[in-house]
Amino acid sequence: MNKKCCELLKQVINKNYNNIRLDSMSYNDDEFYYEFKADEQVSEKDFSQIESEIRKLDNSIYVKILRVSGVYYNGNASNEMINRVVGKSFSSQEELDKYNEFLAEAKERDHRKIGQELDLFCFSDYVGAGLPLYTPRGTIVKDALQKEIERICKKYGFQKVSCPSLADISLFETSGHAKKFNDELFRVESPKGHKFVLKPVQCPHHTQIFASKLRSYKDLPIRYMESDKQYRAELPGAVGNSLSRVYAITVEDGHSFCRRDQVKQEVINMCNLIKDFYSRMGLWENHWVSLSVRDYNHQEKYIGSKKDWDICEQILQEVSDELGLNAKKCEGEAALYGPKLDFMFKDALGRDIQIPTVQLDFAMPKRFNLFYIDEKGEKQTPVMVHRAVLGSYERFLALLLEQFKGVLPIWLSPVQVNIIPINMKYHDEYCRKIQQLLEDENIRVEYDISKEQLGKKIRQSNIMKNPLTLILGDNERDNNLISFRKLGSEETKTMSIAEFLEFIKIEINKR
Ligand SMILES: [Zn+2]
Repeated sequence: MNKKCCELLKQVINKNYNNIRLDSMSYNDDEFYYEFKADEQVSEKDFSQIESEIRKLDNSIYVKILRVSGVYYNGNASNEMINRVVGKSFSSQEELDKYNEFLAEAKERDHRKIGQELDLFCFSDYVGAGLPLYTPRGTIVKDALQKEIERICKKYGFQKVSCPSLADISLFETSGHAKKFNDELFRVESPKGHKFVLKPVQCPHHTQIFASKLRSYKDLPIRYMESDKQYRAELPGAVGNSLSRVYAITVEDGHSFCRRDQVKQEVINMCNLIKDFYSRMGLWENHWVSLSVRDYNHQEKYIGSKKDWDICEQILQEVSDELGLNAKKCEGEAALYGPKLDFMFKDALGRDIQIPTVQLDFAMPKRFNLFYIDEKGEKQTPVMVHRAVLGSYERFLALLLEQFKGVLPIWLSPVQVNIIPINMKYHDEYCRKIQQLLEDENIRVEYDISKEQLGKKIRQSNIMKNPLTLILGDNERDNNLISFRKLGSEETKTMSIAEFLEFIKIEINKR
């Protein structure tokens, strides 16, 4: 049916737009596409017109035009930008209605919309697309996430390190990334003759911290973690005002250097860490695991020996069996240097997004001549296990916002307590006293001194998804009490200041 839809779409476009050129059509099981250049641009407001004209040509077909985007002709960045119109077909009006409902729900959950409403991040034409800016509120969320992931990783033996964003190109030539990511590298040059690369990954930097000292077999595993920006030169047409695809990604990355006899236990350790973190976040139920292996028909694309690859894939399969991960084997999805376990989650549109990953690597330590001294006093090459738990902060935040419709748990919320006085004239002093008291306990407080009516202030507090809204008046002031509402509840609770402090500390520590 999508083939037929393509033809009808082409027919309608050619009737309504002038001077169509560079056109082509394609389709798969899910969607159909028509790419072309015309004198006018297609815009979203034209969609319903296109849909009804297609329907007029064939009334057995129900279509929905999903989006229009700018793409390079033939996918080549040196070619002209053309339109790509994407549609989806349905066999009945009911199916189409159901899909429209689903789209409306997804739109409600869209992290771009929620991020703007909650004032978490923004984009600027001056800074550029694909370069998100975290606002003060967004930065609080990001920092809280970082603190939490680092707290958990520390329990699993990770130590924090910090490396620069730049490196000499030779670092990535040695690691193999320069070749693999050739088209995605940002190269940085200066009039003084510097030639640097913005790091696309952190692993090579971390190998050099390992190499900075003589290591004994007794020291291993050595585990480093770092949350820092990585840079990838994505296609200009592919980035926009979304956190899903950006040039500057903040990546929570970690590496373990271990002995061969420790590899399996190390992978198990990482998988447990991932489960630990995602269970606390309330996201664990929503995933499946991919055992991402080589493309067996093109083994030349990867670095390292066939024997090492066989061993690595075997180990990951065993871990999947032992932990009951039920990993699905996905050929051709491996990393450059080794196979991996990828944990896939669903976004608001039901698309798979890969966030946590555990990757085995026998190759990179060899390329950097890393070694440790074994029991017999001989040099041995360590194995590297790459892992990301939180992965990209941008993608993770998008997932969180969509999953929970912007309602973040209290420990992660930019504002934890919002104070509203019943009457500024009489209750201002008491409100300020409570604000100070909570701030002294490191609780994130906002005090609403705007001139709005009480009802409007409460509504606004709910819109901003503040977990606790304090409403303080005569009774509270005269008896040293606190009255508050929890987000999503109409019920007002009243307690003493001491009781409230105890209550909120328990709430914040809930994970
Ligand atoms: Zn790595």
